[in-house]
Amino acid sequence: MQPSMFNVRVPLGDRPGEQSVFLMNTFTDAQLIVSRDVADVLDRVGQEHARFSPEERDVIGTLAENGFVVESREADRQALEQFFHSVREDRGQLRITVLTTLQCNFACDYCIQGDHGDYNKHAAKMSLETAARTAEWAEQRLDAIGPESFVLTFFGGEPLLNLPVLFYLSQRLWESCQQRGVRMQINMITNGLLLSSEIVDRLAPLGLNAIKVTLDGDRDTHNRMRPLRGGQGTFDRIVNNVRQVAGKCRISIGGNFDEDSVESYPALLDFLREQEFADKLAKVAFKPIIKPLQAAKPKGLIPLTAISAEGKPLGGACMTSAGTGVSSVCDNCNFLDEKMTFLRDETVKRGFPTVDGVHMGPCEIHKHHAHTVGPDGSLYACPGFAGEAKESTGHIDGREEAWRQQAARRFDVITAWKECDDCAFIPVCAGGCSVAAHTELLDMNKPNCHKSSFEAGLITLARQAAANAEPALIG
Ligand code: SF4
Ligand code: SF4
Repeated sequence: MQPSMFNVRVPLGDRPGEQSVFLMNTFTDAQLIVSRDVADVLDRVGQEHARFSPEERDVIGTLAENGFVVESREADRQALEQFFHSVREDRGQLRITVLTTLQCNFACDYCIQGDHGDYNKHAAKMSLETAARTAEWAEQRLDAIGPESFVLTFFGGEPLLNLPVLFYLSQRLWESCQQRGVRMQINMITNGLLLSSEIVDRLAPLGLNAIKVTLDGDRDTHNRMRPLRGGQGTFDRIVNNVRQVAGKCRISIGGNFDEDSVESYPALLDFLREQEFADKLAKVAFKPIIKPLQAAKPKGLIPLTAISAEGKPLGGACMTSAGTGVSSVCDNCNFLDEKMTFLRDETVKRGFPTVDGVHMGPCEIHKHHAHTVGPDGSLYACPGFAGEAKESTGHIDGREEAWRQQAARRFDVITAWKECDDCAFIPVCAGGCSVAAHTELLDMNKPNCHKSSFEAGLITLARQAAANAEPALIG
């Protein structure tokens, strides 16, 4: 017997008589508030020649039931392998993200898409014919996997720039799911400029679940970061659109910050709090912008940028998404980890639901039955890689091409967490965001570590647990 490698703890209270400890096991997700004595018993488990009283043995039994005490380190490791295998092979849910277009009506500062130059003239848009083939392929996946639920997410570029495809896929796949007895949900990640009640009303009977809209800071900062061509601001129009649809479906607010914009977020939160739709927001969560780390590049090598036939960089998916998925820790700078914690606390202070900073993964890149479809029908392992043509893992028409098969093999062996030794956060982190690792470390299979962010999230979680006194108190 020994303590699990996935145990984490936060001491609570520092006055005599209040020396309790928050214990969490990241593998079983058990959370307990225990006395200092119980934490000491846990520390003694596994020590040579340790002796326990009958009461302490009972405590060890309870800890073992919750996964805090395991047979051996080997048992923990085997359970972890089994866990990632079951995440990978899980057939309970089929997830498909469709990029209706790579075109965008914004010219975001940090993004190579949008109305920069004549980008949109060349950016791909899904045709109705490709949409029909995508639906056929999705139906084949539904039949092959037999899931209980199907999650269809629309993304881009800006997905609302291709409404015919968006409506077609929603309607057809809703009917396909009805025929098969599968529960369907629609999600959308949009810049919000074209969001309207009409769109929401049309999608609502087809399983519309959630819409995520991005606001990059307070009005001035957002207008600087996410303008239209010509520099016109977009903040007021987006907020007005959110006002029209809040309450009709779950609306989340996301945002991308960097060192220059982070200080404007408290003002954004104050602004949102004052809105009549504040209590209808399902989630408010912000993340750092992913930036290539020049310093991480090997010396003596000239970094390659894929260039299209027109001499333009090949666009990836909208950078609004990269690193958000389930995880949102996608920058390897401690400064930004601290700022993420700061913004999470500011968000909680104003009463908005947000991510807890601990339950972040594994994200969909680790799931075999989660796919992203580009506008031309190319398949990708996750939305963050979509549009980067050489990372395509297949095609909806089943064509067999060596380069796609090679890419698929690269994604099949993504196990960055194997380099994480005994880190207690592996079950909820899985080695971090592979897109961020690819962009910043030039190797998608390296850990992109934000342990300090998890540790800070854990402290917040412990304080909330203590305040709610929800977890069982033993000892
Ligand atoms: S690898 Fe990164 S961008 Fe892709 S799903 Fe995971 S967290 Fe999201
Ligand atoms: S990337 Fe860092 S926090 Fe995540 S599992 Fe690895 S060592 Fe732990």
